Amino acid sequence: MNGTLADTASGNAPPETDGGFGVYLHWPFCAAKCPYCDFNSHVRHQPVDQQRYVEAFRRELAHMRARTGPRSVNSIFMGGGTPSLMDPSTVGALLNEVARLWTLGDDAEITLEANPSSVEASRFRGYRDAGVNRVSLGVQALNDADLKMLGRLHDRAQALHAIRLARETFPRLSFDLIYARRPSQTPEEWAGELREAISHAADHLSLYQLTIEEGTPFHALHRAGKLHVPDEEQAAALYAVTQEMTAAHGLPAYEISNHAVPGAESRHNLIYWRYGEYVGAGPGAHGRFREGFARSVTMTEKMPERWLQAVATFGHGVIEEEHLNPDAEGDEMLVMGLRLTEGISLARFARIAGRALDVERVAMLAADGLIEMTPDGRLRATRDGMFVLDAVVADLAR
Ligand code: SF4
Repeated sequence: MNGTLADTASGNAPPETDGGFGVYLHWPFCAAKCPYCDFNSHVRHQPVDQQRYVEAFRRELAHMRARTGPRSVNSIFMGGGTPSLMDPSTVGALLNEVARLWTLGDDAEITLEANPSSVEASRFRGYRDAGVNRVSLGVQALNDADLKMLGRLHDRAQALHAIRLARETFPRLSFDLIYARRPSQTPEEWAGELREAISHAADHLSLYQLTIEEGTPFHALHRAGKLHVPDEEQAAALYAVTQEMTAAHGLPAYEISNHAVPGAESRHNLIYWRYGEYVGAGPGAHGRFREGFARSVTMTEKMPERWLQAVATFGHGVIEEEHLNPDAEGDEMLVMGLRLTEGISLARFARIAGRALDVERVAMLAADGLIEMTPDGRLRATRDGMFVLDAVVADLAR
């Protein structure tokens, strides 16, 4: 087979999305560092001067607004770290600033990541009053032994209480669980825990496999042979249980690790995966947005105190910056878009990348059962392809 796949992407292709525009705000502090975590999170034993951070966020957001120009914001996401360590007044000040700088639609999704400790749950009402309409709770496990093993500060009872309270307080709720977290976790045991989780779920669940990240205490323990995780076959069996149970209960996967009632997908994460645009503010935040003819990538200083200093000196904490050429944009779009069950539009890929995908490579990967065309003409990874997505993307991108 010769030619390119742009040829097949015309005609009855589905309507295309531009991916949307979001604002990501990173709150970099946690009450304790979980031993598996490689996020930009820091523990401080003195109270954080939140007002000082609000002022710095204001300056950095103004810098970003000057770069993006006027835009309509579909989503604001406060991630971390642990954003639920912020006072509700801090959250309110940040949201007001975003609304002042850009246009915030009435239907914008405004998410705050929260941990389920009782102190944090007691702030839920204040967050709702400040404008938060969706909470993403870091539950991670529904039994005390595993929560302890994962180094979490909450227990099962607190997790269930926080889920109940969040459901009463916010229109939308997601919570995270980590599975494949020990070799003794059987598919039957995980199915029981997942069944319980689904019974408490609202419209969204994020279900991640434990990954051992370099530089974390879990990595050191794993290397020393003191921490064991399920092998590939066991992890695959747990993944299969996850896919089947969530689909059977009306929360099918729309991305490798994310499950939702159709229509309740995380709009913010869809901005990333649909290769939309977003600005990132706060220590260690990333942004990707169009400036002129190129897509700019920004990365800010990770260390909170150095970020404050940079913002005070330069008006922003951006320390690394790239301007992607169309080829690099195409590669990124593949990396992000093939995570989605909906896959990618080939016509949009061709427009962004300035090239079409190679038909021969697509045919080879399809013959191997790793990718497929959807009935509406989009390209997506199969379930087998999702397991080896990095390799699939590398094959398509080169
Ligand atoms: S609470 Fe979340 S961000 Fe903080 S250390 Fe634990 S996993 Fe990382």
